[in-house]
Amino acid sequence: MQKPKTSFHLLRERCLAESTTEFLARGKSVIRCEHCQLAIYACICQWQPQLNSRSEFVLLLHRIEVFKPTNTGRLIADIFPAQTHAFCWSRTEPEQALLDLLHDENRQCFIVFPADTPEAKAKSRAVFTEIPDDEKIKTFILLDATWKQSGRMFHLSKWLENIPCVSLPEGVLRGYAVRKSHQDDYFSTAEAAALCLQMAGEQKNSDVLLDYFQLFNEHYLATRGCYPPVIGELHQRLIATNISPEKLS
Ligand SMILES: [Zn+2]
Repeated sequence: MQKPKTSFHLLRERCLAESTTEFLARGKSVIRCEHCQLAIYACICQWQPQLNSRSEFVLLLHRIEVFKPTNTGRLIADIFPAQTHAFCWSRTEPEQALLDLLHDENRQCFIVFPADTPEAKAKSRAVFTEIPDDEKIKTFILLDATWKQSGRMFHLSKWLENIPCVSLPEGVLRGYAVRKSHQDDYFSTAEAAALCLQMAGEQKNSDVLLDYFQLFNEHYLATRGCYPPVIGELHQRLIATNISPEKLS
């Protein structure tokens, strides 16, 4: 069954249409599922849960990231399609729809970026270590890029300057086996979103996102290694999630 397109898929289509050079990804000869970008024999779509969240996410993607099969920001859009907004980052020309989101008075926006980095300190911006318990829609802005690119995006985006940072709790998260960063404390985008959900009191949603992230990792490695993934407990758990989605209070 074809899954509906998320904001990430629509953005990817737009970027593909605008792209003048063909993007050469590793494993280009693999026949991939259009939706999850994994090899057909390792497609994760049938286990993809779809939930609701009280929080929302803004994915600010580096243009190259949109085409990477390793990208994990799109997993957030898969699970929370109604709460995830995807945009390509632009230093000087952010989309109006993005600016409207950032200036929406019904929202409290946070940038997910380590507050103890020189980039963050230089701007002396507010840092939240807890999520306020008020009526505003908590909107987490995730810089979806390599560590180096995201530092640049954070530093150069004047239109992000008045938005506070959120400091993610020091937690032990399952590691990302696919694309490890040189920074030990650097989370993948999906893991960062799971921590945001924990901070916002949405533990169940956070657990499901981490499960789906782990499933993606296993199936990605299977795609890379050209072997069929082993179907097990994790898959069962995700199917059970779809049968009884979390009810929002
Ligand atoms: Zn798929």
